[in-house]
Amino acid sequence: MRAFAPRKTNLLETFENLGLAPMLLKNLAGLGLTKPTPIQAKAIPQIVRGRDILGLAQTGTGKTAAFGLPMLTRILAYGKRPAPKTVRALVLAPTRELATQIHDNLAAYAEGAPVRIQRVVGGASLNVQAEKLSKGCDVLIATPGRLIDLIERRALVLSETKYLVLDEADQMLDIGFIHTLRRIAKLIPAERQTLLFSATMPKLMEELAASYLSDPIRVEVATPGKAAEKIDQGVHFTTQGEKAALLAEYISRHPGELAVVFNRTKHGSDKLTKLLEKWGFSVTAIHGNKSQGQRERALSAFRASEVQVLVATDVAARGLDIPQVAHVYNYDLPNVPENYVHRIGRTARAGRDGRAVAFCGPLEMSDLRAIEAAMGAKIPVIGGEPHAEGGTRPAPGRNSQPKKQHRGQGPKPARAGEAKPARKPDAKPAAQRGGRAEGHAPAGGQAAPKRPARAQRGH
Ligand code: AMP
Repeated sequence: MRAFAPRKTNLLETFENLGLAPMLLKNLAGLGLTKPTPIQAKAIPQIVRGRDILGLAQTGTGKTAAFGLPMLTRILAYGKRPAPKTVRALVLAPTRELATQIHDNLAAYAEGAPVRIQRVVGGASLNVQAEKLSKGCDVLIATPGRLIDLIERRALVLSETKYLVLDEADQMLDIGFIHTLRRIAKLIPAERQTLLFSATMPKLMEELAASYLSDPIRVEVATPGKAAEKIDQGVHFTTQGEKAALLAEYISRHPGELAVVFNRTKHGSDKLTKLLEKWGFSVTAIHGNKSQGQRERALSAFRASEVQVLVATDVAARGLDIPQVAHVYNYDLPNVPENYVHRIGRTARAGRDGRAVAFCGPLEMSDLRAIEAAMGAKIPVIGGEPHAEGGTRPAPGRNSQPKKQHRGQGPKPARAGEAKPARKPDAKPAAQRGGRAEGHAPAGGQAAPKRPARAQRGH
């Protein structure tokens, strides 16, 4: 099996000569997939041949089809149904949203083909999921915690599993799933094909890859940590207390355009959402404290452009693929520098343009420098004056979403949603009151937000 020499990649090739099942090829054109992306052209032939893959690729590169199409091709070749409670291919993803996205993509690729594809994630009924698994499934997409719950209930066994996909593996490590992953891997026969995808390659990931993969082919399609070039980025220096009003000014300049606002904490996300709602914005939020139903409703309303602004924490929004997102606002800078790249990658998708604005408070200068160091590039200043260096906030916990995080200035910390605009608390920002924000540029160019002035470049 290992005797094949890796084939030279011809990026002009079509899906037809990658070795995929004809049944799947029929569906691709209808889904707008006509030409393989670089990761697909490189990975699909190797996976069809049974090789393990270490894929260094971010969401948006087409990696779901890169692992999904060849895996489905191999599973279709079985020609018989899975045994009760067994799973032929297990796909692990860090978040419910990503699991849903993978499930929906694979189901679309396999439309009309005799394969059973299921999804199990936290927040939904264990009994219903156990029932779904009783007949066995070809492909199961799961979040690690829920999978363990179901295994402990004896709702499924992994003894027949021949394929294991770890998607967004670095985020699974960030969330602290390492022990759960180790437990799950032990339950899957060693005689299997393993595909590991990660946007970054921290040391722990190297260890994980070394212990899970057998003689893998390494496929890399974008330099990890390199921000998408199509994204127009900027940093606006401001105070913690002025962030909410500043955000409102930015959002108001782009009526009807979808924006994702990143907040570091669940509590801060809720507070900010309420404040924006009060000011008349159409806004919803997703984070780990929301129920599964709430998360799905929020996302589908945002996807359908029924809601303009999505306030999210890192964990909930990683990997989301919503092509209409035109703006990403980093209301708080992320405490893990690499997350900046993941956050801004929610925009400029599917060939569109995108803008990303980071609001940098006085205690976030070291976070900003860490992000710039990770990217190997400076973020252009588009407003305010850089704060004095040296102010740092308390060291974050191991988890990317600390339960409590006060980062305001002065003796009484100001939390995100409590950040009051400089106007009367109940007053709406200028644009929401029907007036135009001062400094609005004519259509096509956007000028400085009204306050704090000193923007140096339109955004
Ligand atoms: P992913 O990186 O798997 O999350 O995919 C990102 C987006 O690219 C999804 O909306 C896919 O449907 C889309 N996509 C995947 N492969 C292709 C392709 N070959 N051509 C065009 N779009 C694609």
